[in-house]
Amino acid sequence: IEIVGAPIFTDTKELKGAVLVFHDITELKRVEQMRKDFVANVSHELKTPITSIRGFAETLLDGDMDSDDLRKQFLAIILTESERLQALVHDLLELSKLERDEFKLRYENIEITKLLSGIIAITEQQAEKKDIEFTATIDDSIYMRADHDRLKQVFINLLNNAINYTPVSGKVELVVKENQEVVEITVSDTGIGIPEEVQNRIFERFYRVDRARSRNTGGTGLGLAIVKHIVEAHKGTIHVESRLDQGSTFRIEIPVSRQV
Ligand code: ADP
Repeated sequence: IEIVGAPIFTDTKELKGAVLVFHDITELKRVEQMRKDFVANVSHELKTPITSIRGFAETLLDGDMDSDDLRKQFLAIILTESERLQALVHDLLELSKLERDEFKLRYENIEITKLLSGIIAITEQQAEKKDIEFTATIDDSIYMRADHDRLKQVFINLLNNAINYTPVSGKVELVVKENQEVVEITVSDTGIGIPEEVQNRIFERFYRVDRARSRNTGGTGLGLAIVKHIVEAHKGTIHVESRLDQGSTFRIEIPVSRQV
């Protein structure tokens, strides 16, 4: 709380009292602190891959490396770290678009099975690599108004997470149904789960339960923040239910709003 005060005098210049104005600046302070944290986080996230790219490039340039294998390994690291930078910049730009006041979705008529066909094929491949059983149950002919590319991003981010945070031989399931003009999307996995006390924090920008694990899977820490923004822009809701070492279920509800 910020307090501003001023004395009040009588006509004969005698002190009569004082006015005190109390400003509740906790909200302002909180927003300012969040902004600072965000900038610090972005800088840190950018620094890590850049340092690594620079280090390996310098070593390669130094030139006394006779092993072709080692050279290839270094180049592979440079490539991976560049991809990480690219993903990070992509997600940051997307997030900053979504957070702009004048941001508007590009609504189109969408048929869900059509939107999902490519995504399901890719998820099947990813699941197969980890011997994960992936099932998709999609109601026929769900038509809705939505921003095609952004809705697609929601599915991609949730399914990527489900695969990434589920150990080999686990299960991942996608269910999409329509119920009373609401599209219900559920992505569940039998993965590592999320501790109860941080379940509401995972939608924050850059929040990760396990930083190292997220890094290893190429995560930017922005995926769920983006998902939440997109869902809410569609006037929908998102919830998570999860138990440590048992698995997680993300549930989204979006109104079909067909006649816009
Ligand atoms: P990241 O790029 O780190 O995956 P996200 O914003 O997508 O970033 O997710 C934030 C964090 O939430 C992850 O780092 C992870 O700790 C946790 N998380 C997200 N999805 C799952 C899941 N299906 N199972 C377990 N943990 C998850």
